[in-house]
Amino acid sequence: MNDIPDDAEARRAIAPVICYPTETVPKPDLALYIAARAGAVSTGEVLVPPRDARCFRVPAGHFFRISSVEGPQVGDLNLWNANDLSERFYSGKTRALHGTHVSTGDRLWSSFPHMRPMATIIEDTLDWYGIDQFGGSVHDVIGTRCDPYTGVLLSGNSYHHCCHSNLTRSLSAFLDMPPEVAETHVHDVLNVFMCTGFTRDTGQYFMKASPVRPGDYLEFFAEIDLIGSLSACPGGDCSAEHSSDTAACHPLHVEIFAPAANDLAGWEQPAPSAYEGGHGIS
Ligand SMILES: [Zn+2]
Repeated sequence: MNDIPDDAEARRAIAPVICYPTETVPKPDLALYIAARAGAVSTGEVLVPPRDARCFRVPAGHFFRISSVEGPQVGDLNLWNANDLSERFYSGKTRALHGTHVSTGDRLWSSFPHMRPMATIIEDTLDWYGIDQFGGSVHDVIGTRCDPYTGVLLSGNSYHHCCHSNLTRSLSAFLDMPPEVAETHVHDVLNVFMCTGFTRDTGQYFMKASPVRPGDYLEFFAEIDLIGSLSACPGGDCSAEHSSDTAACHPLHVEIFAPAANDLAGWEQPAPSAYEGGHGIS
């Protein structure tokens, strides 16, 4: 290790600044969404089997709820623009704007060059959890998704029901697309109900038993036409391990709701980024 400089403590004592202050970002009209949700009716549901994934469609201006049923279970969520799969959820930018974990009022942003809200969280029954003494919290945008490539790297184990493979199979079946093409559309996830953080001493990504219980849910407003895919992670509540058939796993329930006519008066789908795209090339 290099020598510690004389002013090391002074350098460490410099206060941090927020990278992306969000005061200038337009806020969602949560009151409008919640009022519209009150009059919305169920239009469909999907039960995601354990260690598998299912796709679902949510039209712009509709709602979807992900619920825990039967037992504690975490879910890995992918979102695409239903009309253009190249526009997809951008977990890294969502993290930069809203922090490592998301809850009510936070938005799920899409990839460049679109970079607009795809969905807004309107209710989170786990919002009481906060940040625990380990630095853990719920619904992270820091993990990627469990995948067979990392499994092989770490253990040599080819496990086919990791979230990455589940999401690949579900999209392939939903859009009748070859698996090798579907795989290119799978992306870093929102870890629904998962409790995670970084260890304070080594900075390593950690997980712990999810506080989710049957009846808990996370609910979203779709800002654009969406295809979603949700994987019921083979880690179950992620208290011990994933990428195997060891953990107790449970299904997850997805339900879609349509608002009543005129209940979203004044709302418009967010436009793609206004950046003109020149990148300084003349
Ligand atoms: Zn997983």
